[in-house]
Amino acid sequence: MKNIYLDNAATTPIDPRVFDAMLPGLRDEFGNPSSAHAHGRSARAAVEKAREHVAQLLGADASEMVFTSGGTESDNAAIHMMLGAAGGTAPVHFLTSQAEHHAIMQPLEQLEERSVRVDFIGVDSSAVPRLDHVAASFSGDEQLHRCMSLMHVNNETGGILDLQQAAAIADSHSSLIHSDMVQSAGKLPIAIHDLHVDFASLSAHKIHGPKGAGALYIRKGMSVDPMMVGGSQERGRRGGTENLIGIIGLGEAARLAVLEMDERHQRWSTLKMFTTERLGNAFPDIVINGDGDAALPNICSVTFPADAYPMDGELITARCDLSGLSVSSGSACTAGSVIPSHVMKAIGHDDASSISTVRLSYGAQTTEDEVRRGVEVLIEVIQDMLDRSSPLSHSRTAMP
Ligand code: PLP
Repeated sequence: MKNIYLDNAATTPIDPRVFDAMLPGLRDEFGNPSSAHAHGRSARAAVEKAREHVAQLLGADASEMVFTSGGTESDNAAIHMMLGAAGGTAPVHFLTSQAEHHAIMQPLEQLEERSVRVDFIGVDSSAVPRLDHVAASFSGDEQLHRCMSLMHVNNETGGILDLQQAAAIADSHSSLIHSDMVQSAGKLPIAIHDLHVDFASLSAHKIHGPKGAGALYIRKGMSVDPMMVGGSQERGRRGGTENLIGIIGLGEAARLAVLEMDERHQRWSTLKMFTTERLGNAFPDIVINGDGDAALPNICSVTFPADAYPMDGELITARCDLSGLSVSSGSACTAGSVIPSHVMKAIGHDDASSISTVRLSYGAQTTEDEVRRGVEVLIEVIQDMLDRSSPLSHSRTAMP
């Protein structure tokens, strides 16, 4: 039987309707959007239609969207554009949170090594940045240009930031603000002009579009350096022939996400409620990271606290995989050792509990039956691991 896929926050399968929309671009409509002839004009029209749809994800103007290769490029570019926009060579103070994606954390850590001041504010139990910590972080830095980057929805917990409040706080501190909206775009209604956010990152493969396509929102009127030079594409902001097929796929995925947002949200809420209730009945001491309205319902992060559930947490996802269930863990495997996720640690879990965390995430195509079967697999895996790690089971296996 096919493995059950409950890891849609990592990536989603391409929607068949997106696939169909991309096909002509792979066959006959191959023109270069910069060419003036008929082939080029038809490719240009496809790119601009996609731009309209992607802008609708944020309630933005099409002219504010720049196509990129995905969330990581958009995040990196936003940081470097903010550095330039904030003051060029003038000293800058960057503020972000302890629970951002590595696409934000690592470029900022690099800047820190080059003597840029970077502060990482704490987060609450849903991994949402503590906005009440912003003022203290910014105090005493009046001679610096300020920039902030705070993600809208956390990719490990689904925790939702009040972006309107975050942007108002940024404004009151004369700070630019970028938000990583990779996990929220297409899943929450967004009116970006009301939020007063300066930059925002999107990715196609989180909303049933293709991998390697994304976009960066740059607020109208911002003066920014190009993220890539060598061509006048994307109004001179990103040179290079456009990824036509990827852009068409992103546009169609965006159109469908906006159209079906309410229906998907409702279905995910039911699936998450079922998941948390069934797991809570089987294991009463679990912690749901990012619960209720504080989190998006397509992500269900469950921690098995190490004191209540002693087991080799790093094996959970591998055991699930062997049993036909694809899910993510609260850890990363680097150079053969298991490192607890920085997000789980930031919300207060110890190393062992961070590692004993499982993220189940649903997509537009996830069925109730898949979730029911997937949750039973997880319960069996955890129960078996607990049985094997209990002192009683050790003594049993030691018996002849
Ligand atoms: N930001 C967040 C919150 C993500 O979840 C991801 C993907 O995991 C990224 C950025 C990176 O996006 P991409 O895979 O399109 O580079």
